[in-house]
Amino acid sequence: GFKSRVSVIGSGSWGSVAAKLVAFNTLNLSSFHDEVKMWVFEETLQSGEKLTDAINRTNENVKYLPGIKLGKNVIADPDLDNAVEDANMLVFVTPHQFIDNICKSLVGKVRSDAEAISLIKGMEVKIEGPCLISTYISEQLGINCSVLMGANLANEIAEEKFSEATVGYRNNREIAEQWVQLFTTPYFMVTPVQDVEGVELCGTLKNVVAIAAGFVDGLDMGNNTKAAIIRFGLREMREFCKLLFSSVKDDTFFESCGVADVITTCFGGRNRKVAEAFARNGGKRLALKHLVHKLNPDIRQIVTLLFLIHRSFDELEAEMLQGQKLQGVTTVREVYEVLRHRGLLELFPLFATVHEICSGCLPPSAIVIYSEKKNIFP
Ligand code: NAD
Ligand code: 13P
Repeated sequence: GFKSRVSVIGSGSWGSVAAKLVAFNTLNLSSFHDEVKMWVFEETLQSGEKLTDAINRTNENVKYLPGIKLGKNVIADPDLDNAVEDANMLVFVTPHQFIDNICKSLVGKVRSDAEAISLIKGMEVKIEGPCLISTYISEQLGINCSVLMGANLANEIAEEKFSEATVGYRNNREIAEQWVQLFTTPYFMVTPVQDVEGVELCGTLKNVVAIAAGFVDGLDMGNNTKAAIIRFGLREMREFCKLLFSSVKDDTFFESCGVADVITTCFGGRNRKVAEAFARNGGKRLALKHLVHKLNPDIRQIVTLLFLIHRSFDELEAEMLQGQKLQGVTTVREVYEVLRHRGLLELFPLFATVHEICSGCLPPSAIVIYSEKKNIFP
């Protein structure tokens, strides 16, 4: 009978774990070809070796997931066209900022009967308005695209610690079951939900809440404050989802992709970690700006300092994450654009404040400002 061929597009920390999960199943299920190709954005390691060669030699992603065997049937390939050739199941798992170029170069290269799934947490904002990554993939490549989201810190799943995930699908339950089968392992429990927009937007928006949680940690505010921020965040997530898609279901927020992902990312994620450092260090920079403002009103100096504040999330990402990428800072800018365009910023004080802090317009302490008139969170 027909055997499905799976390719994974992306090879960061989550991309590598996704390849490991899938490769375990393709080896054990007769309906799949054993081999899983994994597209690698090629780079040269400090040793001089190409990352692809190192992955194929050691069966480990030595840069993004060191110490974890991916499975001998995972084959790293730096050539995108080659990596997707013949595949009828495509797993997209790159940071969202790169999906545009990847899709553009894949146009006309994928099988017309291929099915895709996106593990990417982010969105595209075009002139016409916001666009989900799954929709973008679907429109660019002319294929159906489901999503898989959940409370899934890559390093924990890499060590085979139990977690759950949610597959969001549009209308074809059989396709959803196929993805569930491909990803499920004894330590990875996958549940299908017919709400692709709700599942994907949960995964996207929780990164914004995680940044807020990181600010709270950086300000040493404690657990109650963080819990409050998580609750405000969940409420804004729900409102934002419903604003964009009235079809989004309340139950989706209780799946792994909803509350569980918010919790794990607000405690153990990279967005939280870098936001904590930003609050500790960005706060100092802002204080410096106020000082300069007092001493010397020269506008250029202030602009220079503002620029420093703008850059500091990028700097911290580069210093702290060894090539891994944050999704929350770009996502909150995109969310802010959508809300500003619709005149709805006031209804989303947490999302708006996170963006204004990330862009240096407000100090990190603004995340918990209580004015005399009203709490900034209604
Ligand atoms: P990562 O942040 O660990 O690694 C960055 C990746 O981007 C590397 O593979 C790098 O080679 C690649 N890259 C760098 N420049 C590139 C370019 N110009 N073009 C294409 N690729 C480039 O990646 P990740 O954690 O696998 O993240 C992928 C997606 O998965 C993100 O949307 C993320 O939110 C989501 N996700 C991550 C986790 C996690 O714990 N890491 C969990 C769930 C979901
Ligand atoms: P971070 O990108 O903040 O590490 O979050 C990972 C994640 O999506 C966990 O589900």
